[in-house]
Amino acid sequence: MEKSTKVAECPKCGGKELGKGKHTGYGVMYPDGKMGLGSDVEYVICTDCGFIIESYVKKPEKFKGTLF
Ligand SMILES: [Zn+2]
Repeated sequence: MEKSTKVAECPKCGGKELGKGKHTGYGVMYPDGKMGLGSDVEYVICTDCGFIIESYVKKPEKFKGTLF
């Protein structure tokens, strides 16, 4: 039972069955003002209660320079 994952358990329900999801297609996140350069979004979710523990874009470098 000793897996070396980044997240050990769900902070909400304590569940240890974590899964990985991916948002793509219509769920692609786009940098503000730069449509067409979107990135898929990945999630680490609890498979017991559905809580999203982590979410991140696959290509964060696409979002540089979009705020200022
Ligand atoms: Zn949970």
